[in-house]
Amino acid sequence: MTETRSLQNYINGQWCVSRATESISVTNPATSEQLGKVPVSPATEVDRAATAASIAQQDWRRVPPQERIQYLFKLKGLLERDFESLAQTITIECGKTLKESQGELRRAIENVEVACGIPTLMQGVNLEDIAQGIDEIMIRQPVGVAAVIAPFNFPAMIPFWFMPYALACGNTYIVKPSEKVPLTMEKVFHLLEETGLPNGVVNLVHGAKETVDAILEHPLIRAISFVGSSPVARYIYSQAAAHGKRVQCQGGAKNPIIVLPDADLEMTTRIVADSAFGCAGQRCLAASIALTVGSVRDSFREAISTTATECKVGFGLDEGIQMGPVITEGSQQRIEGLIDRGTQEGAQILVDGRKANIPGYENGYFVRPTILDGVEPESAIAGTEIFGPVLGLMHVNDLEEAIALINQSPWGNMACLFTSNGAAARKFRYEVEAGNIGINIGVAAPMAFFPFSGWKESFFGDLHGQGHHAVEFFTQTKVVIERWPKNWSRQF
Ligand code: NAD
Repeated sequence: MTETRSLQNYINGQWCVSRATESISVTNPATSEQLGKVPVSPATEVDRAATAASIAQQDWRRVPPQERIQYLFKLKGLLERDFESLAQTITIECGKTLKESQGELRRAIENVEVACGIPTLMQGVNLEDIAQGIDEIMIRQPVGVAAVIAPFNFPAMIPFWFMPYALACGNTYIVKPSEKVPLTMEKVFHLLEETGLPNGVVNLVHGAKETVDAILEHPLIRAISFVGSSPVARYIYSQAAAHGKRVQCQGGAKNPIIVLPDADLEMTTRIVADSAFGCAGQRCLAASIALTVGSVRDSFREAISTTATECKVGFGLDEGIQMGPVITEGSQQRIEGLIDRGTQEGAQILVDGRKANIPGYENGYFVRPTILDGVEPESAIAGTEIFGPVLGLMHVNDLEEAIALINQSPWGNMACLFTSNGAAARKFRYEVEAGNIGINIGVAAPMAFFPFSGWKESFFGDLHGQGHHAVEFFTQTKVVIERWPKNWSRQF
């Protein structure tokens, strides 16, 4: 890969040089080495992709579902064949450790596997004799052309929450990857090309806001899936709706975990540390606030501080590394600024990850694991998504108080409880206002056959990504009511 390599779009089965006048550098966040340049594709290129997809969809929807999924079976084989090289690309452009990259790729493949069940999943329903001699049938048909606008933190997995289902249901598709991590999808599209999918069925259009706005406005694009920060999610949701599109937007998060005194301390500490610092805290399911209840306060504080201090930080391809860099220099500065803000608001720094110096990677964008104690519920740091390896500690007297604090929050992506008490777990599961719940689990990421269920400011829409929700999102229902005259026998 040369420094000047410009990425190409993939439209109507062809790799094409973009006519963009603006491009953005793609860098390895561990080294700041330039990996390529991504074009900010203009509206004309979105139009070419949407038009090609719309024409292709006329034939694609007529391909029987059991034949459509043969391309997905092939894709699964190719993803398995190139698994290691894809995982390395994720680490190089996104910064997470190789093990984390392998984990996200595995979930991407799992979504392909689930979508292969479409001949069953896409079935409609029917009822005979809704009135005498009249039958009613509900059919699921594809929506048309659909698109995903993806974030940087899971370059492989997130487009796969949607794309395999969209294709299997008979839609054609446009992927707009994050401009920060476009290389993984470029590789995936080479594999999609290898499956022999008909031209125009899948299209890759690189870009940023200008490109996204063209997607939002394009009349041929009927459905949009978005994953990213909440302010942009809100914008996409309103703009897509204003243009008459079906839309689902998964937004940001500020995820709390509660530690009860009866939790297994060693297991809890290990799991919470992985949740807070894994992927350098750049997961929408990262633990961000730990609420300790009663007597567990001091022991948890001590244990999590030790684990945070011992975390091995570096380039994710190197042996034994537990945490990589954050995505950009801008992110590094923003995260350090928020830690400063936390201290100004009265929190005490137990472990300070600012100004991290990683030998051999002095140009990388590193923030080491950070622990802030005594975070005040009303403080800005308690309500702001940091999206970095920073865990805030709060102390409460009982589970009721902890649940009330969680439910005050505008966010609702994930909440977790650590306990050995079943009644406490049930109360938590029942009362907490969040869409993904973990009981002695730190990253409650739904498997591909369950919906990724954010709530409140963490989600705008009705149907989430993955599983049955994706099938519903990518199909529209048609109801047919039939009556047949009784004189048929006279004709034969
Ligand atoms: P982001 O919102 O900055 O960007 C996401 C996408 O939107 C990118 O493709 C980008 O090009 C585009 N975009 C950015 N600004 C835009 C604008 N003003 N107008 C139109 N398009 C715009 O998000 P990010 O920094 O790439 O990703 C991190 C965020 O994603 C975090 O907030 C994280 O919590 C969230 N996230 C949520 C989930 C979830 O399932 N809820 C999963 C992963 C990440």
